[in-house]
Amino acid sequence: MAQLSDDCFAFGGPMRSVDETVALIASRLSAVEESEAVLLAIADGRILAKDMVAPLPLPPFTNSAVDGYGLRGDDLPGTAEKAFPVVGRIQAGMAPDQPVAPGQALRIFTGAPLPEGVDTVYMQEDVRVDDAGWVILPPGLKRGANVRPAGEDVAAGKVVLQADQRMRPQDVALAAALGMTQVEVRRKIRVAIFSTGDEIVAPGTVRGPAQLFDSNRFMLMAMLARLGCETTDLGILTDDSGLIADVLSEAASRHDLILASGGVSTGEADYVKAAVESVGTLVFWRVAIKPGRPVAMGVIRGTAFIGLPGNPVASFVTFAHIARAAIFALAGARQQPPVSRPLRAAFSYRKKAGRREYVRVSLRRTEDGTYEAVKFPREGAGLLSSLVETDGLVELGEETIQVEPGQTVQFLAYADLN
Ligand code: AMP
Ligand code: MG
Repeated sequence: MAQLSDDCFAFGGPMRSVDETVALIASRLSAVEESEAVLLAIADGRILAKDMVAPLPLPPFTNSAVDGYGLRGDDLPGTAEKAFPVVGRIQAGMAPDQPVAPGQALRIFTGAPLPEGVDTVYMQEDVRVDDAGWVILPPGLKRGANVRPAGEDVAAGKVVLQADQRMRPQDVALAAALGMTQVEVRRKIRVAIFSTGDEIVAPGTVRGPAQLFDSNRFMLMAMLARLGCETTDLGILTDDSGLIADVLSEAASRHDLILASGGVSTGEADYVKAAVESVGTLVFWRVAIKPGRPVAMGVIRGTAFIGLPGNPVASFVTFAHIARAAIFALAGARQQPPVSRPLRAAFSYRKKAGRREYVRVSLRRTEDGTYEAVKFPREGAGLLSSLVETDGLVELGEETIQVEPGQTVQFLAYADLN
C-alpha cells in the first residue's frame, strides 16, 4: 500500500478552492509501486508503468498506398502521356524479387513493398492499359506519390507511449503494430467503499418507512470501475463510530483508498470524524464547490480516506472533481482535469462569488447546427433525476456571479468525467 504520513493532509484555512484541493491531493499522494505485465487483449484502461519505445519503424518497409502501377521517378512522363511495359506484379505480403529497370512499370497493390528503384505509384483509376498490355501513364504526378515510406508513421527508437498514460484502444493497436504481446502496467488500485446512515438500506432488503435505498454506493462503484479500480464493497454502515472505526481499521491494511459517502455534512460529521480519528487522522475540507462542499480527507495507517457528502449529486460532483484526482495520483495516472468545451448557455443563473459551481444541463441542438446548454429546472443536490436526465455539467468559475442566455460557458460531458 502507498504509505502516507498522518499529517499529509494537514493544513489550516477555511475554504479551499477546487484547484488548490486537487493540487494538494496530487502532491501528497504517491502512486502504487507494483507493476505487472498484461496481455494486450486486457490492456485497455490500464496505466502504463514504463515508456514504450518503438523497436521498429512503422510502416516497417516502404510500400504502396494504392492499387496501381509503380515506376522509377526518373521515368515520370513530363508533358505528354507515356507507355510502359508492365514487367511484374506484386501484392501485399509478397517480397519483391527483382528491381524494376528504367523504362519499366510494375503492377502493384496496396500494402505491397516497393521493389528497388520504384519510388512512385500511379493509382489504377488514373491510367489506361492498351491491347498489348502496356500501361499508359498521364503526366502531372509527383515523384514519391502514393507511397508510404518506412518510418513515416513511427521512427524506430521513438517513445510512442508514456509511462503514466492510460491505455486506449488506439494505444493497444500501436503496441500490437510494434509486435508487443503484453505491456507493463501499474497494478490496479484497491478501493474499499461504504455508505453511511441509519436511514440507508440496501436495495433488495426491506425498507422501513423512513428509509432510503442506497444509491451512492452503486454510483460510486460504477465510477470506480470506469477508472480501473479494484473495488471492495463494504456495504452500509450505521451511524455508529465504533462500528465505522472497526471497518476502517480492518480495510486500511488491504486497500490504497477507502471511500465513504454520507456523514460528513455539518452536524452529522461526528460519526465519521470520531471513527477516523480513533484509528487515524482526519481533516475536513470545506471545498469551495457546489454541490458538494464538505469533503473529508484522512489517513488511516498509511491509507488514504475520502468521505464524500451523502446527497447523490454532491457525491457525484465531488467524486468527479476531487476523488478522481486522488485515484489518478494513487494509480500513477497523469492528472488530467476533465475536458471542458465552450457552449452557449440557454439559461440565466445567479451564483455567489468565491466558489465553483456545477450546473446540470442538457444539450440542445440549435437552428445553426451548434449546441446550447439547457439547465435542469430544479437545483436540489438530492435529485438523482437531475443527473439522469441531463448530459453534463456547466462549470461556473469562482469569479462568476451571473450567467445570461447566450453567454459562453464551459461544458463537461458526463462521458468525459471518467
Ligand atoms: P449526509 O451527508 O449523511 O448528511 O446525507 C445527506 C443526504 O444524503 C441525506 O438526505 C441522506 O439521506 C442522503 N444520503 C446519504 N447517503 C446516501 C446514499 N448512500 N444513497 C442515497 N442517499 C444518501
Ligand atoms: Mg448521513
